[in-house]
Amino acid sequence: MNISNTSPNGTRKNCSGSHKKALTFAYRVGGGVYINLTNRCTNDCTFCLRNNADSAYGSGVLWLEREPSAAEAFEAARTIADGCKEFVFCGYGEPMCRVGALIETAKLLKAEYPDIPVRINTNGQSDLINGRDVVPELTGLIDTVSISLNTPDPEAYVRVCRPAYGEKAYHAMLDFASRCAAKLPHVVFSAVRETLTEEEMLKCEEIARKTGARLRLRDYISENNQNG
Ligand code: SF4
Repeated sequence: MNISNTSPNGTRKNCSGSHKKALTFAYRVGGGVYINLTNRCTNDCTFCLRNNADSAYGSGVLWLEREPSAAEAFEAARTIADGCKEFVFCGYGEPMCRVGALIETAKLLKAEYPDIPVRINTNGQSDLINGRDVVPELTGLIDTVSISLNTPDPEAYVRVCRPAYGEKAYHAMLDFASRCAAKLPHVVFSAVRETLTEEEMLKCEEIARKTGARLRLRDYISENNQNG
């Protein structure tokens, strides 16, 4: 994806291109209800599932005809929430590109389901996307923030994640993680196991330890292994 194809706040335009589109605002993955707020993203990761698929884990098409309001996202989640163990803001895009709708949806979820934890899966670039520190606004609403660390090396991050903001995206992500760790119950760094050497994994663990986060190494998700 071409870096020049970005909006002023760094989000990529036309991410959904000519894909088939739908109104899949929420979908189930096991005990989790996943909420799909946007297809916008400030990264263009080489390993992004969106490069090879239109859906995830048996969901409907996740390219959106339009972005949902908070009320629509809540209603879509509520209708599939039977037996739900966790709500997750994680769609075919970066949920912090819609932080206002995310917070409003989280408030509705917490009011209806006070005992069910809420997680955000994010690239951690909220400060650059939103131009402010939104972590205080997440307090009391978000139980876990899972941040894609991907690599211990800023230059490698730029090569692999191709952020619209360049290398400062990596440092902004680490700052965001530290502030989340100070205010929210759980912070998780994630990385794709197959993309790291043993030495890089150890460095990722060290970064997580210093930040107050847990490191989760996950397997690469492709079109062919999303059911695993
Ligand atoms: S941050 Fe997530 S949604 Fe954005 S390009 Fe990377 S893997 Fe895809």
